[in-house]
Amino acid sequence: MSTPNQHPSQIKYPKVTVWDVLKEYWISMKPMKWWYLLAAICFAVGTLVSSVITPLYFKNFFDTLATAKVPSEAVPVLIGIITMVLILNFVGVVCRRSGNHLDSYTFTKVSVSQRSRAFAYFIEHSHFFFSNNFTGSLVQRINRLSRAFQNITDRLYYNIIPTIVRVVGILMVLYFTYPILALVIAVWIIFLLLTSYLSAQWKLKWSVLTAEADSRVSAALSDSLSNHGTIQLFSGYDTENRRFANVVREHARLWMARWNVDMITDSIQALLSIAIQFAVFYMTIKYWGQGMVTIGTFVLAQAYILSLNDDLWQSSRIIRDVYESFADSKEAVEIMKLPHSVQDIKGAMPLRVTDGKITLEDVRFGFNETRSTIMGISLDIKPGERVGLIGPSGAGKSTLVRLLLRLYDIQSGKILIDGQDISEVTQGSLREAVSFVPQDPILFHRTLKENILYGKIGATLEEVVNAAKLAHCHEFITTFPDGYDTFVGERGIKLSGGERQRVAIARAILKNAPILVLDEATSSLDSHSEVLIQDALDTLMKGKTVIVIAHRLSTIRKMNRIVVIDHGQILEQGSHDELIDKAGLYAKLWSLQSEGFIKDSVE
Ligand code: ATP
Repeated sequence: MSTPNQHPSQIKYPKVTVWDVLKEYWISMKPMKWWYLLAAICFAVGTLVSSVITPLYFKNFFDTLATAKVPSEAVPVLIGIITMVLILNFVGVVCRRSGNHLDSYTFTKVSVSQRSRAFAYFIEHSHFFFSNNFTGSLVQRINRLSRAFQNITDRLYYNIIPTIVRVVGILMVLYFTYPILALVIAVWIIFLLLTSYLSAQWKLKWSVLTAEADSRVSAALSDSLSNHGTIQLFSGYDTENRRFANVVREHARLWMARWNVDMITDSIQALLSIAIQFAVFYMTIKYWGQGMVTIGTFVLAQAYILSLNDDLWQSSRIIRDVYESFADSKEAVEIMKLPHSVQDIKGAMPLRVTDGKITLEDVRFGFNETRSTIMGISLDIKPGERVGLIGPSGAGKSTLVRLLLRLYDIQSGKILIDGQDISEVTQGSLREAVSFVPQDPILFHRTLKENILYGKIGATLEEVVNAAKLAHCHEFITTFPDGYDTFVGERGIKLSGGERQRVAIARAILKNAPILVLDEATSSLDSHSEVLIQDALDTLMKGKTVIVIAHRLSTIRKMNRIVVIDHGQILEQGSHDELIDKAGLYAKLWSLQSEGFIKDSVE
C-alpha cells in the first residue's frame, strides 16, 4: 500500500544492478538448471575435443611426417592419427549439436516463463503507472527482456564457455610443451581482455543511452499511430513527421557515437593481434632454427594462435553484447522491481458486501503535490441508495469513484464499504463487488461475445445474449455478419461510442455486482437509446447501491440524492426538488439545461 500523503506522481524507479538482472534470470532458469548445466558441459567438451586435443594429433602427424625415414613405415601411423582426428571431430560435432538442441529446448521453456512473469507483474501496476507509460515502450521492454536473455545464453554457450575452455586448455598444453610461448600468449590474452573490458565499460553508457532512445522511438511511433485519426483530422502529418524525425535523429546520433567507440577499440585490438602474431612467428622460427622446436610444435602453435585470435578478436564484441543485453533487461527489471503502488495489505480479507453501505470520511487525494483533486469529502451512502454526482468538468467526480474502486490510494481519510476499510480488503474482492461503467469504455480486440463475457467469465451464451438484449446491444450485434463473433478492432475502434457504451453496460448487467457505478455511462447515446437503456439500468439498479455521474441532469433527476461537487469538495446535496429550492449551482445548471432540448425529452 502506498504510504499516506504519498502522491502517485512520485514514481521512483528502483536502482537496478547487474545482480538484480541475474536474479531475475535465475528465477526463470531455476527449474531448468540441470538442463543448462548439461548444455554447458556439452559445449565445453565439444570445444576441448576439437580445439585443444585435435591439434595435438596434428602436431604428431606433422612430427611423424617430418621425422619419417621410410615413408611406407610412417603410413599406418599417419592413418591411425587421421582416424583418431576423425573420431575426435565426430565427438566434437555430437557434443556441440547436443548443446544446440538443449539450448533451444531450455530457451523456449524459459522464455515462456520470463514473458509470463513480466506480463503478470506489469499488468498489476496501477492505473497511474499506465497513464504515465507508453504502451509501445512497455511492449518493447517485455519483449526485450527475453531476447536479451537469449542473447546472453547464446554468448555464454557459443563464445564465453568455448573461449574459457580454449584459453585454459591451450595454456596448459603449451606450458608443458613450449613454456615461453605459453607466457607470451598469456600476456597477450591479458592485454586483449583488458582492452575489451575497458572498451565495454566505455561503451556501456552509450548502450544504455541508445536503449533508452530506442524506447523513445517506439513510444513516439505508438503515440502517433494510435492518434492517427487526430493527425488526419488536423492535417498534422508535417508536425508528426518532424517530431518523429527528431526522435529518430537523436537515436541515430547515439548509434553513431556507439559505432565510433567500437571502431576505436577494434582498431587497438587489431594492432595488438598483428603484433602478437608477428612475435610468435618470429620466436618460433628462431627456436626452430636452433632445433629447439619441432615442425609439429610449429604447427600446433599456429593452430592454437589462430583459434585464440578468433576468440579474443570477438571478445570485446561479446563483452559489449552481454553489457547491452543487461542494459536491455535492466529496463524491464526496473519495472519488475518497482513495487505496485496499490497493494493488498498482509492478511487482507475479502470484502463481504452485506448491505452495500458506502462511507467516505474526509477523503483527500491529489495526483501531484501542487494540486489537490479531492479535498476532504465526507459522504454516507445508505444501502440501496441511488446517488447522482454532478459538477463542473474537472471537479473530481471520476476521480472520486476511481478512489472507491481503489485504482489509486487516498492520501488521507477513509473509504468504507459496509464498515470495512477498502484499503484493508483484497482488491480483487473489492472490484468484484462493484460494477463500473466508465466514461469512455475501451474494449479488447476480441469478439463481442468475449468482451461482454468479461463481466462474468464462464457465463453461458444465453446469459450473454440476455445481457446484450437488456443493454440494447443485441440489435446492432445481430446486424454484423459474424454477430457475437465479430472482432471489435483495437480498443473497440470499429464500434461507435454509443455502441461501446452499450457493450460496457451489458458487461455490468452480466456482472450484477451489489454496487453499481456509472460514470457518464450513457453520455454517447442519443436521447432515444438513452431512454431505452434507462429502463434496463433501472432494472439493474434495483436493490443495489448506485452512484451515477452525469452531465445530463435529466439522467440523475430521479436519484434519491444528488451530490454537487466542485473543486474536489461537496458544494450541496439533496433531492432534485430540494436543490432546486436551494437555488444553488444545481438549480443554475438545471435551469440552463432545461432551456435546451433535455427538458423536452424528459417531460
Ligand atoms: P469530467 O466531468 O470532465 O469527466 P471530472 O469531474 O470527472 O470531470 P476528473 O476526471 O475526476 O474530473 O479529474 C479531476 C482532476 O484531476 C482534473 O483536473 C484532471 O486534470 C485531474 N486528473 C485526472 N486524472 C489524472 C491523472 N491520471 N493524472 C493527473 N491528473 C489527473
